[in-house]
Amino acid sequence: MTKIVNHWIGGKTAEGASGNYGPVTNPATGEVTTKVAFASVDEVDAAVAAAKEAFPSWSRTSLAQRTTILFRFRALLDQHRDEIAELITAEHGKVHSDALGEVARGLEIVDLACGINVQLKGELSTQVANRVDVASIRQPLGVVAGITPFNFPAMVPMWMFPIAIACGNTFVLKPSEKDPSASVRLAELLSEAGLPDGVFNIVHGDKVAVDRLLEHPDIKAVSFVGSTPIARYIHTTASANGKRVQALGGAKNHMLVLPDADLDAAADAAVSAAYGSAGERCMAISAVVAVGSIGDELVEKIRERAEKIKIGPGDDPASEMGPLITKAHRDKVASYVENAAAEGCEVVLDGTGFTVDGHENGHWIGISLLDKVPTSAKAYQDEIFGPVLCVLRTETYEEALEIINSSPFGNGTAIFTRDGGAARRFQLEVEAGMVGVNVPIPVPVGYHSFGGWKDSLFGDHHIYGNDGTHFYTRGKVVTTRWPDPADIPAGVDLGFPRNH
Ligand code: NAD
Repeated sequence: MTKIVNHWIGGKTAEGASGNYGPVTNPATGEVTTKVAFASVDEVDAAVAAAKEAFPSWSRTSLAQRTTILFRFRALLDQHRDEIAELITAEHGKVHSDALGEVARGLEIVDLACGINVQLKGELSTQVANRVDVASIRQPLGVVAGITPFNFPAMVPMWMFPIAIACGNTFVLKPSEKDPSASVRLAELLSEAGLPDGVFNIVHGDKVAVDRLLEHPDIKAVSFVGSTPIARYIHTTASANGKRVQALGGAKNHMLVLPDADLDAAADAAVSAAYGSAGERCMAISAVVAVGSIGDELVEKIRERAEKIKIGPGDDPASEMGPLITKAHRDKVASYVENAAAEGCEVVLDGTGFTVDGHENGHWIGISLLDKVPTSAKAYQDEIFGPVLCVLRTETYEEALEIINSSPFGNGTAIFTRDGGAARRFQLEVEAGMVGVNVPIPVPVGYHSFGGWKDSLFGDHHIYGNDGTHFYTRGKVVTTRWPDPADIPAGVDLGFPRNH
């Protein structure tokens, strides 16, 4: 029987009243296993109304009570790690260990939210003028929305809602329609943890639901994570509607390898970061830039390792890499490899013919490795979002830096070297929001912030860390005078107040 995933509104399941549903496929089998409700404008309005109704009471709930609920949610999440990872694998396809990693990184943001009282401490200056004190405080915005991508169905929502609700906002999530089940389980756990009804809501669906969130007058801020064209659209549309927006987009992350690097460590890192999660990570390494004479040796070391990767269903413990999200995406990824030779690339490994016996309808593709890739090749220019690694060759560090800085994307990047001076120079000169030194996927911990530059992020705020708290609150400055009972009234003074 086909499973049905419904919306979550006002603390309970809300059946898809519009009657519109979309299919959810198990990528390892190609089978449609689930129907997910697609929200109409009225259903989005119902979720926003529930969140609006919950806001006055939730925003006045003490920090101690809010964090008590978040601590309970953290404990439940910890207990249910495996179950959530299984839901992710069944709809996304990634292997179980990778899905567990995603839950762990989401849990890190819940940890941060449990300590929100520290981040929300205001500032106070006493005696700024005679008997005048000034306090700066931060207050929640109201109803805020999150729109999230398929590739991290649990972690990316958890980059957003724990901080948003800890700050006193209420939340409406629009998860990816491709793998919606994990988010609903998170909603159930929040409810079990004691979160009042309406503080966290989910509407599933497509552009209809997203567009309504972007224009709804009661939505005060929008957090988005997804591809660059949609991130740009979300930023433009929600900003035009007067909302605060952070919209994280796509990526093409480069790993620069200097001639003095430990090439075995660099090859291990390149293979893990390029092919982990079948390349469907915004922090995947998709381009290695080999500097100087090491190119041939590095490519050979990458090839040796990449060839050994075990590809299979995500729920098979022997699998290291699973299938791609959809058949259409699989075919698009394959087309880059099929056209690579004609575009001047040397095809070292071609994964396009790969399949898994007994799972022939799965969205399979094997490992592809392209060498001597020209910057004019589509395989280099586009975000492929699949297990395809491009290697580019340069003579010098400067040429390599120029290539990286010319990319329209600026999410993450890494340098591999033993030279501290070169690494330091790279940190300062490279145009990307997250930099790794001998670390291929430099995803910041929860108490720092995550975000790219250029076409990888539209808006001023990175996500989580101090930026997250800042994004989900607005400042208020209170100037207070409490006269001493012995004061003589100052009398009327029409001059502009001077502090003395
Ligand atoms: P996507 O942009 O297709 O979808 C993201 C969300 O937007 C989904 O909820 C989807 O339903 C919605 N959406 C899609 N088309 C829309 C439209 N025309 N109008 C309104 N809403 C629309 O992204 P995806 O394929 O789900 O995820 C993969 C992309 O996300 C990659 O580009 C990846 O790099 C990016 N990503 C970025 C980060 C980051 O932190 N920068 C993290 C994860 C994923």
